[in-house]
Amino acid sequence: PNRVVIVGAGQAGFETATSLRSRGFEGAITVFGDEPDVPYQRPPLSKAFLKGEPDPDSVWLRPLDYFTSHRIDLRCGSPVVAIDRDAQQVALLSDDTIGYDHLVLATGTRNRELPVPGAGLQGVQYLRTLSEAHELASTLTSCKSVVVVGGGFIGLEVAAAASRHGASVTVVEALDRPMARAVSETISSFFVDEHAKRGVQWRLGVGVTEIEERDGRAAAVRTSDGETIPADIVVVGIGVLPNTELASDAGLAVDNGIVVDRHLQTEDERISAIGDCASYPNTAGTGRLRLESIQNAVDHARCVANRLVGNDRPYASVPWFWTEQYSSKLQMAGLVTGHDNTVVRGSISDGEFSVFCFAGDQLLGVESVNRTRDHMAARKLLAANATPTREQVTDLDFDLKSLAR
Ligand code: FAD
Repeated sequence: PNRVVIVGAGQAGFETATSLRSRGFEGAITVFGDEPDVPYQRPPLSKAFLKGEPDPDSVWLRPLDYFTSHRIDLRCGSPVVAIDRDAQQVALLSDDTIGYDHLVLATGTRNRELPVPGAGLQGVQYLRTLSEAHELASTLTSCKSVVVVGGGFIGLEVAAAASRHGASVTVVEALDRPMARAVSETISSFFVDEHAKRGVQWRLGVGVTEIEERDGRAAAVRTSDGETIPADIVVVGIGVLPNTELASDAGLAVDNGIVVDRHLQTEDERISAIGDCASYPNTAGTGRLRLESIQNAVDHARCVANRLVGNDRPYASVPWFWTEQYSSKLQMAGLVTGHDNTVVRGSISDGEFSVFCFAGDQLLGVESVNRTRDHMAARKLLAANATPTREQVTDLDFDLKSLAR
């Protein structure tokens, strides 16, 4: 292709543009983003950014002049509103159209909104964009009580930040344990304790029925078991919805994400979809996946960039992810869904351990708390499809990486 158009100036869109250039692509690259800012990293928004005085310069993926010097036409604040597949062009709000030889959809996700009365009140906040992060960072410094709705990664990182600021914090989670869709029971229970030690209150297996108002602002959260929890602010982190409308309006298949094949190509060979918005075949051959992680966004982008410069290979990366809460850094390799037994390496009580999750004898994934070496070894093991024995896992002197050589 001579003209690549990328919709979405997040991690995946940015990485596609930069990877194309670093692989010698000489054609035109245009990146459309609907947010006003140059591409930025989201992970710090719920971590370092909430700690004290936020440093906005710490989040940019590259300074603005990088895009000019690499001949990447970056159009921030400029949403793409339609795709005309026959004419191979996208339409902008202004009615302008831009032609493409290849189109990359990297539209990401948006916050799932809390569907209860009072959810629109002032003081009910979300955290996905840089502007939401600025707002949350400034309110956290002054509020005394915070209710976090949703015990996922973002909710728990916000709970840690809020408790560090001295607020009284309650986490309300509808399932019976936090981060339940992504981590083992051992990890959920470790983090329940870590938060509880700092005074965070848990309401597990409890829903939210209403946000109560005082003086036009959110003042309390009503739960499904009839409790009223006072709150200066309510932070909602109940997951996201993939931005698929552009694709479905253009007649492309959508199934909890824009449907792509093993090469991350849609049914239109001139259109790819990557990152948080893409639903792709699981490399294990068991259904489709839509992951929300930096690794996924970056590796998808590189896979498509390779294809566009003539080096086509199916996507085959091992998923990995991390979260930071207090002094515990959890790093995960592989996907642990469907595991039926676990083996722990290291010491849970010292806060330095890894949980190896197996289905039968097959290693599915490894969750490491403050054990980066295990995490790096796990990524190698999973890439090599090598499974350690229980004895090798528990023997701290055993070099796990040796199995992947
Ligand atoms: P996005 O980053 O969502 O970017 C998509 C962009 O496209 C958005 O700016 C969107 O507005 C724009 N867009 C949508 N439609 C259009 C359109 N029609 N025209 C133009 N632009 C459009 N992952 C980790 O691995 N580790 C972490 O610790 C971690 N922490 C996180 C903390 C927070 C607070 C958040 C919100 C996410 C975190 N993630 C983390 C997830 C990670 O940031 C995402 O998986 C990643 O950003 C996905 O990149 P993306 O480019 O696919 O989507």
